[in-house]
Amino acid sequence: MSNYEIETKCIQSGWEPKNGEPRIMPIVQSTTFKYGSSDEMGALFDLEKEGYFYSRLANPTNDWVAKKICDLEGGYAAMLTGSGQSANFYAVFNICEAGDHFISTSAIYGGTFNLFGVTMKKLGIDVTFVEPDATKEEIQAAFRPNTKCIFGETIANPALVVLDIEKFADIAHENGVPFIVDNTFATPINCRPFEFGVDIVTHATTKYMDGHAMTVGGCIVDSGNFDWTKYADKFPGLTTPDESYHGVVYTDKFGKMAYIQKATAQLMRDLGSVQSPMNAFLINIGLETLHLRVPRHCENALKVAQFLESNEHVAWVNYADLPNNKYHQLQQKYMPNGTCGVISFGLKGDRNTAVAFMDNLKMISIVTHVADARTCVLHPASHTHRQMSDEQLVEAGVQPDLIRLSVGIENVNDIISDIKQAMEKVKDFAKVKS
Ligand SMILES: *Cc1c(COP(=O)(O)O)cnc(C)c1O
Repeated sequence: MSNYEIETKCIQSGWEPKNGEPRIMPIVQSTTFKYGSSDEMGALFDLEKEGYFYSRLANPTNDWVAKKICDLEGGYAAMLTGSGQSANFYAVFNICEAGDHFISTSAIYGGTFNLFGVTMKKLGIDVTFVEPDATKEEIQAAFRPNTKCIFGETIANPALVVLDIEKFADIAHENGVPFIVDNTFATPINCRPFEFGVDIVTHATTKYMDGHAMTVGGCIVDSGNFDWTKYADKFPGLTTPDESYHGVVYTDKFGKMAYIQKATAQLMRDLGSVQSPMNAFLINIGLETLHLRVPRHCENALKVAQFLESNEHVAWVNYADLPNNKYHQLQQKYMPNGTCGVISFGLKGDRNTAVAFMDNLKMISIVTHVADARTCVLHPASHTHRQMSDEQLVEAGVQPDLIRLSVGIENVNDIISDIKQAMEKVKDFAKVKS
């Protein structure tokens, strides 16, 4: 399907039925697969023969959906995972082991920040966080002899920083390591990181790809462009024998498939964060309309951001699609059709003003989620970061008044009306208080 336009890929990639097969992708709801002989099964276990044998490692439905996402990104190979968290963990852990080090931008999803800074440290893998706006020299200074990759997010959740992708890709390659990015917020509709030198892309399919807040899931896509054998000493997991598979060398046996093959055969086998085929089916339905939904999310978000910007009660608005935004130039370069539907803003007042505003919203709901069809809000100071004082929040890069608004695909006038009526109530609230 690689010659088709992205809209067509959303619909047609992945499951391609042969004569007489179902038109709609089947849900292969089976843990296991039957073979005629013991030898045949043995060959599968030795990675000598291609095929399915147990759904913890691989399942046909999951693979058809992974193939679609791979096509959308313009990648070479892909796999689904049980969540965005496991996608990011596997993507890094596949090439880092105890004693290794990697570099990540500091503007990343809170869950990933914790995974890297706390849990992976406990596994003996050290991370250095660098500012996304750091100079090349500053990033270079973070490199150590045991550094194995750089990680970033194309648009950071929730900071909404647009990453200078080429800057990081160049430095990674100058140092002989791959550049991995989480492309969850932009989606391949708005940004295809491989075109700017990224080697591996991850997704929380939980967000726009699913698009309806139904399923938690993740995906890893490999461009196939990074030459592991050129830096064989750095990546022994890929370039030396894997004793748990009778000494197979992934790069020798699987070539450009090596990275995804290792993550499947080794990490999925041992850690088992699999996607369920039923959920993969639901993700696929979401993917079919991704090219319609993402532009509408962006169109609505821009109108809401413009409304907020011109409103007297609003202290600040952060949305890279606005011309005066610090990241607008980068947005124009890397995702000229728009970033995503998520914006953040602050109301004049304090934490309590934000809470009062949110409590007065009628249609827009307060949920721990972003990037689905329904408009929703979250106030990090009262929710995800509630243990922190105002000072600690600022240190963590979260303003105490920050409201994260995930703009959905309802009629934008209804979204703006709801915001307006809640603001009116906040004014009343402030009067009553003073
Ligand atoms: C939500 C999210 C994740 C984690 O995904 P889960 O499916 O919740 O595990 C990772 N990265 C980004 C950018 C996210 O928004």
